[in-house]
Amino acid sequence: MLTTAQTGSNGTTSAASPWKNWSGSQTATPARWATPATEAELADTVQKADQVRVVGAGHSFTPLVPTTGCIVSLDRLTGLVDHHRDTHRATLWAGTRLFDCGPLLHAVGQALPNMGDIDRQSVGGVLSTATHGTGATFPCIAAGAVELRLVTATGKVLSVSAERDSEMFHAAAVSLGALGVISQVSLQNVPSFRLRERVEMLPLDTVLADLDHWKREHRNFELWVFPHSRQALIKTLDITDDAVDSQIKGADAADGLLRLCSELTRALPGLTAPLQKLAARFIKPTLRVGESWRIFPSERGVRFNEMEYHVPDDAGAEALDEACRVSVSSGTAGFFPIEFRFVAGDTHWLSPFEGGNRASIAVHQYYKQDYRPLFAAVEPVLRRRGGRPHWGKLHTATHRDLLAMYPNLGRFLRVRAQLDPGGKFLNPYLRSIFGLTDT
Ligand SMILES: Cc1cc2nc3c(=O)[nH]c(=O)nc-3n(C[C@H](O)[C@H](O)[C@H](O)COP(=O)(O)OP(=O)(O)OC[C@H]3O[C@@H](n4cnc5c(N)ncnc54)[C@H](O)[C@@H]3O)c2cc1C
Repeated sequence: MLTTAQTGSNGTTSAASPWKNWSGSQTATPARWATPATEAELADTVQKADQVRVVGAGHSFTPLVPTTGCIVSLDRLTGLVDHHRDTHRATLWAGTRLFDCGPLLHAVGQALPNMGDIDRQSVGGVLSTATHGTGATFPCIAAGAVELRLVTATGKVLSVSAERDSEMFHAAAVSLGALGVISQVSLQNVPSFRLRERVEMLPLDTVLADLDHWKREHRNFELWVFPHSRQALIKTLDITDDAVDSQIKGADAADGLLRLCSELTRALPGLTAPLQKLAARFIKPTLRVGESWRIFPSERGVRFNEMEYHVPDDAGAEALDEACRVSVSSGTAGFFPIEFRFVAGDTHWLSPFEGGNRASIAVHQYYKQDYRPLFAAVEPVLRRRGGRPHWGKLHTATHRDLLAMYPNLGRFLRVRAQLDPGGKFLNPYLRSIFGLTDT
């Protein structure tokens, strides 16, 4: 199985290579792979193909990418196109991975204002699913986009900016690859900055009682909750001028422990509670300092499947508490903790954060375990609290559910029908969530 394409002379492979996503839960055997090296080649590929799905780093859990047509990878459309010192804006090729954005932007004195849990994704991928980090005043990464270039079904390239064409821009910035292929993105960045990270284990109830304080006092704040022990790993990030640590430790030891505990609790579910309690006793506080792009991301060496819902932020604490209790009482949880973050609102039509600040609650299951019983137990809790699902993470919301959750979905679908009346960019999953199963 491949997660990236082999490249032919004109950027297109003739042999069909299978594809799978990061967790291995989604697979596809496309008729063709295309890896264009220029925007013109990308436009030509799109124009000639019958069915196109674009892949970034394959880090989505939902079946957004699978197609029997052509998978287009932007692995050869990467790097910094342009930057402006005064405004801290930079234009990147959409195939650029976040782990390359850090050093590329740092070299020109810029940084992304915020990043998520990992840096493996592509710029096009994080935009298209409204990927986010944590921090009450920090919106998802797509909210920092100011302009983008979109290759549409006919091969025409649209240059769409927030200032010139607000409607199209708000439709295209978070668009699941359903309006076309984004080739370049201009982002509003900030001057490079350094972060101090502190991680410590605290009783969940103590943290929940003072949630507003944690949220206000730190630039970025998140929780990893072990429901069986009701202990939470708290991660805070704050700007600092302190010296950078000479060695920013990798996650090898933590990964080893997580893998071991996941295997043990998979074989013997009764061990989940004692192991989570033991972990709470042995995890000691840690502190590290580094450039923002080195501190934000973690290494996730142990694979899992994930469901994440974004609830209105004032419902966050209660939703988290109930999600923890249900995951324990249903007897479905494995060793993985539940993640809790804050995300500021934005105005993109399909952003789950459209219209106001949200608290994000994510449930994980070890990739060798069936995730469905746990997710089925927790999903109603998050839906009842007004949650909207992350587009890249597993959920069971139907078209009708999504219409009720996303007030601009109807507008988005009208733009989609205008840009791609033949459904070139649709696959069975998109047809289903867009309510287009009969077309
Ligand atoms: C270990 C792990 C940790 C994660 N952590 C976070 C996190 O902290 N926060 C968060 O919000 N999410 C997180 N995610 C989810 C992930 O960020 C999103 O699913 C993201 O979309 C993945 O980016 P990608 O480059 O892999 O895109 P893919 O998964 O390959 O594609 C995602 C979607 O974007 C579309 N797309 C990709 N490139 C383009 C383009 N150039 N033009 C148009 N459409 C395009 C695809 O067609 C598809 O619909 C995590 C996932 C994993 C596996």
